[in-house]
Amino acid sequence: MSSQVIDDLYFSASALKTYDTCQLKFKRRYIDGLFWPDDWIKDKEKRKLQEQGNLFHMLAERYYFRGKIVDSKDIISEEMITWLERLTNFRPYNKQDQFLPEHKLQLNNGDLKLMAKYDLLHFSEAGRVVIYDWKTHATNSKVNYLKRSLQTVVYRYLLCKAGGDYAPEGSWQPKDITLVYWNPRFPDDEKVLFYNQERYLRDERKIKRMISDIKQVSFRADDDVLATSEEKNCLYCEYRPICHGEPALEIEPKEEDLDLTEDWDDIEAISF
Ligand code: SF4
Repeated sequence: MSSQVIDDLYFSASALKTYDTCQLKFKRRYIDGLFWPDDWIKDKEKRKLQEQGNLFHMLAERYYFRGKIVDSKDIISEEMITWLERLTNFRPYNKQDQFLPEHKLQLNNGDLKLMAKYDLLHFSEAGRVVIYDWKTHATNSKVNYLKRSLQTVVYRYLLCKAGGDYAPEGSWQPKDITLVYWNPRFPDDEKVLFYNQERYLRDERKIKRMISDIKQVSFRADDDVLATSEEKNCLYCEYRPICHGEPALEIEPKEEDLDLTEDWDDIEAISF
């Protein structure tokens, strides 16, 4: 049963990171399908920050979808208005280019099944694509951390491998792809990560190796898998109530994970 679930699973960056963090957490979320709502976060301030982040993502999606701000300033906070103004200054919408907010992409290449949901894909007339990812943490992420993150690995690789329908020539070269992390709290401190062929091949090896490793594990019982020994990982894990009888202090927002309750059947999987 568990091996069938694994064979059917489309791996997201969150899934790979979850496995990296704690095999038990991976089992609970992706094999057992236990989904914990955000309001299990213990710390009220952290819960508020998470809600702010979710709202910003939703407002940004509407902006690029409609091409203008459609939400009344009377119903959103001063801070959110400022964030939106910074967003529209940083990456203004225009009619010449193509903007795809909250865009989902899947790859089905036999053993390699991947998926991602991008905050924004921006296809320019010059035949390039920029992936934008909005961060709303109180501190800005360091570029070296972002370079190594599985989100960076999966986002660029998947778009290059499976996003050819949007490329002028029918496929992307790694050099055509840029990933930009941007936080409205730090509008002048965007993190720009370019891509190249060498990195693409390295990412492919890494992703395949991780998925192959996961497929070797028996997920039949909780005792079959390794629970993390890092206490810090548990503090920020939604399954802390089961493992330790305490709510999590904070749960990292993960776009794909929010979609565990969504129907992905309407998304076309690219096969090779
Ligand atoms: S609380 Fe800790 S041990 Fe339990 S699933 Fe989460 S990370 Fe793993």
